[in-house]
Amino acid sequence: MLTYTLKGSAQITNGFNLEPLDNPEYPFDYKFMVKCTRCRAHRDKPIQVTRYEYFPVTQFVNANLVMKCKDCKSERYINVERLEGKLESESTPIVRIVTHGLEILSFIADDQFQCQNAENETVQEIDLSEGGWTDGEIAIRNVRWDVVLERGQAALAL
Ligand SMILES: [Zn+2]
Repeated sequence: MLTYTLKGSAQITNGFNLEPLDNPEYPFDYKFMVKCTRCRAHRDKPIQVTRYEYFPVTQFVNANLVMKCKDCKSERYINVERLEGKLESESTPIVRIVTHGLEILSFIADDQFQCQNAENETVQEIDLSEGGWTDGEIAIRNVRWDVVLERGQAALAL
């Protein structure tokens, strides 16, 4: 098992509480580039996982995504957990990712983010795929994502 923390940061003008819109009605599709820890094969497309779907791994274990490596055919799975953090100027933990047999290389942001504007209204469909966004009022710049392997686990990834 490898545990990662996805950390995010952004410079926000006229807005706050920037975060993934992620609830049972609108589950966020977390997209990651991954690599198999057994055969080291990269997938050329991101995997996509939501925290509201569960698939059986064994009789006692469920995961948000179960897949077979297309090269070595090993079963790999992944769970995601939303942490409390919002994107701020300081890098903040946003999501915890626990994988079995997968190394997380990067997070692929999309248009499923939301924030509050200066009037406290929720603004949705914020697209962070290009690293910034504006609607003329709110301006989001310098969006940065880091996938951090939790300490003491680096050796297990090999
Ligand atoms: Zn593999």
